[in-house]
Amino acid sequence: MSSDLALDGGKPVRDTFLPFALPSVGEEEIQEVVETLRSGWLTAGPRTKAFEEAFCAYTGAPHALAVNSCTAALHLCLLGFHIGPGDEVITTPLTFAATANTIMMTGAKPVFVDVEESTYNIDVSLIEQAITKNTKAVLPVHIAGLPANMEPILKLAERYDLRVIEDAAHAAGARHGDLKVGDISDATCFSFYVTKTITTGEGGMITTRNQQFADRVRMLSLHGLSRDAWNRYSQKGSWYYEIVDLGYKYNMTDIAAAIGLHQLRRIDEFTRRRREIARRYDEAFGKYEAIILPPRDSSVSEHIYHLYTIRLRLDRLSITRDRFIEALRAENIGTSVHFIPVHLHPFYRKEFGLGRGSFPVAEAIFDSIVSVPIYPGMSNGDVVDVVAAVEKIMAAASR
Ligand SMILES: *Cc1c(COP(=O)(O)O)cnc(C)c1O
Repeated sequence: MSSDLALDGGKPVRDTFLPFALPSVGEEEIQEVVETLRSGWLTAGPRTKAFEEAFCAYTGAPHALAVNSCTAALHLCLLGFHIGPGDEVITTPLTFAATANTIMMTGAKPVFVDVEESTYNIDVSLIEQAITKNTKAVLPVHIAGLPANMEPILKLAERYDLRVIEDAAHAAGARHGDLKVGDISDATCFSFYVTKTITTGEGGMITTRNQQFADRVRMLSLHGLSRDAWNRYSQKGSWYYEIVDLGYKYNMTDIAAAIGLHQLRRIDEFTRRRREIARRYDEAFGKYEAIILPPRDSSVSEHIYHLYTIRLRLDRLSITRDRFIEALRAENIGTSVHFIPVHLHPFYRKEFGLGRGSFPVAEAIFDSIVSVPIYPGMSNGDVVDVVAAVEKIMAAASR
């Protein structure tokens, strides 16, 4: 193929590389971290507590526990519901490692159910047939920031006495009907990893309506001790504690919470900007028959576009998906793929005898998707560059 593509030696759309994702950290965050360091209280303390309270106020959930990752949050929620060896948890294969790995960490078995062509979320019509006498929970993932259709999941959970744990790593700030994600089901897990909708560097949060569950996951987050460090070391606290269960060391630090407090204040502004960028991409990419736009707001859910994932109709292109990614890289545009389905990874193939053909919808989506940059720190010029790079490749590779 000869063309003006940078891949073929032409001039790239941009002189400098546009990273796939970048955090938006402001002066307030920096000042709060500095004050935290000066305060002498670096680990879980007053700022972590304030972040939890602010997160409750934002989501409407009555209880929140700040932890050091969404992975920790998922692990704790599974343990919080006493899920372990012999149990099964139904989830989606189109997700990050953490979703399935944390189920494995408890000794339980992840049971994958294919995704919907239209939303990339778990196909609720396939969940019931996957339920066995060992099923303890359903773990939907709100992929890319579009909340899964929760009503049928909650109904099934009630009928079969299952817990619902939401992987909302992509969905902090999203709405589902009249509710914010975080106040819909038994337990919701958020990520504040550096690429997510808001960040604390590394971090996560559990929200729940259930006081007993909240107390249990808090206990499990700190060595299974009967009281947390904040209580132990404050003036009111005492030296005495008991190990009441096998716990972990999953607490958030006040340094991280200092960042989170200010990120949370900006969450709706971030969402507005990502949705605005998504509209521009929709307009620009909607012209091409070779591009399937990402799912949009559903009748019940608002898409917050943590990711903007285009799907290529490879039968209408003279290049492969991998070559498309290389071509964007050459134009100085960063991309990623969300996700390699979990069941295609060597560990899961070997463990469960899964592979190509096990979940055809997730596999077909994986084979044809590319996520392009979408974050509040992008300038309008950056957005124009992404559009120009995609248009350039389309002009060279459409058929
Ligand atoms: C990022 C991510 C996680 C894990 O979040 P961490 O905070 O990095 O542990 C879990 N699930 C999904 C779908 C993710 O994208």
